[in-house]
Amino acid sequence: MNFQDLNLNTPLYNALDDLGFTTPTPIQAEAFGVVSSGKDVVGIAQTGTGKTFAYMLPILKNLKFSKQDTPRVLVLVPTRELVVQVVDEIEKLSKYINTRVLGVYGGTNINTQKQQIAQGVDILVATPGRLYDLAVSRVLQLKSIQKLVIDEVDVMLDLGFRHQLINIFDILPERRQNIMFSATMTQDVDDLIDDFFISPQRVSIAISGTPLDNIEQERYNVPNFYTKVNLLNAILQDKETFNKVLIFVGFKRMADRLFEALDETFSEESCVIHSNKTQNYRLRSIEQFRNGENRILVATDVMARGLDIDNITHVINFDTPDYPENYIHRIGRTGRAEREGHSILFSTVKEQDALERLEELMKMKIPFTEIPEDVEISTELIEEERVKIKERNNPTKRKDQDAPGPAFHEKTEKNSKENLGGSYRREIAKKYKKPKTRGDKNYNKNNKFKK
Ligand code: AMP
Repeated sequence: MNFQDLNLNTPLYNALDDLGFTTPTPIQAEAFGVVSSGKDVVGIAQTGTGKTFAYMLPILKNLKFSKQDTPRVLVLVPTRELVVQVVDEIEKLSKYINTRVLGVYGGTNINTQKQQIAQGVDILVATPGRLYDLAVSRVLQLKSIQKLVIDEVDVMLDLGFRHQLINIFDILPERRQNIMFSATMTQDVDDLIDDFFISPQRVSIAISGTPLDNIEQERYNVPNFYTKVNLLNAILQDKETFNKVLIFVGFKRMADRLFEALDETFSEESCVIHSNKTQNYRLRSIEQFRNGENRILVATDVMARGLDIDNITHVINFDTPDYPENYIHRIGRTGRAEREGHSILFSTVKEQDALERLEELMKMKIPFTEIPEDVEISTELIEEERVKIKERNNPTKRKDQDAPGPAFHEKTEKNSKENLGGSYRREIAKKYKKPKTRGDKNYNKNNKFKK
């Protein structure tokens, strides 16, 4: 396929010529028709795949010249660096089109941006916070937005922007096309799609089998968190082979929990990154891992994505990702530049379905390895692993025939609120969280974790 097949227009062809681009990248070819159709779209693609043009080509092709000053296209991105980069890309592509592109982000003078907006904009690229401030100030009118693009939505949600996004949805016109791009699928992204998108079309680039060729994969069936920790401890003993190890976990809480567990044995050699850590902490962790000071890095999917670290000897998937694409991204961090990479996957019984899905995607079975005999099988469970016992049909359960039935009137919203113990108690509970113990002490008392 080449760009001629997309039936673009002369100004776009000229711009592409100037850039020296002749063939659409896979995500551009795949997304063009869907974005042009006007339906809601969810695209799964990483930075570097040409995803900016994947949504901008169809948008620019269909954007008619207009004298109106209020923006018609809004692109939301998580960081100011991305604002600059996306504006730059759009300007290159719209070199021969009369469109006004503007980027706005926080941390700079808002008044300058207000003046720029007042001069008229067609395509606005923004970080969510600054966009909202500008909209609230009434200088920026969002009533003409026809297309909303949310780029790097996984990062945006991981940085805690969900609330701001919802506030922005509230002030946008209801009739609009939503276009969303994400590099990884996470539960948060899925929830956002469910809540705000109308049966979106999904486009993702088919993952080819070839890059996997130089990654040796193996997998273990492991019953629970602490047995995973024991197995990991055993594996990491071989410092020479396991020289630069990136360990993936799905959630921030798990990342902290695992880091804490590893710290007992490998405190001098391990570090952790996820979005609740400060920027400085993250940078320090990455640098220590990069320069070899620490050979073990624990990371969440979203945070590990921006990392560009060479010579990772092993990727260890501490959990089996629900979304198979994430597994492919994870293991792609090793085996770069023709070197052989290694990937190890841990799966519990609950994670077998996810395992099947990713084997189906790769069209291959991951070789299975038994847990070595000297690895302790723990019976201790973390909170998330315990079965919640619900008494459903207990025949001896007391039934009070005289108990009052449901109230005749629906309670008012105010009266139906759950008593959470007063804002002060909630604040204190939030501030001090839970004590740092391994789950519930009473539960674990008779079930001691053996090292
Ligand atoms: P992105 O994934 O949008 O960050 O794009 C990654 C880089 O690929 C950017 O520098 C683009 O200018 C470039 N690019 C986008 N589309 C093409 C294409 N069809 N052919 C070659 N390079 C491209």
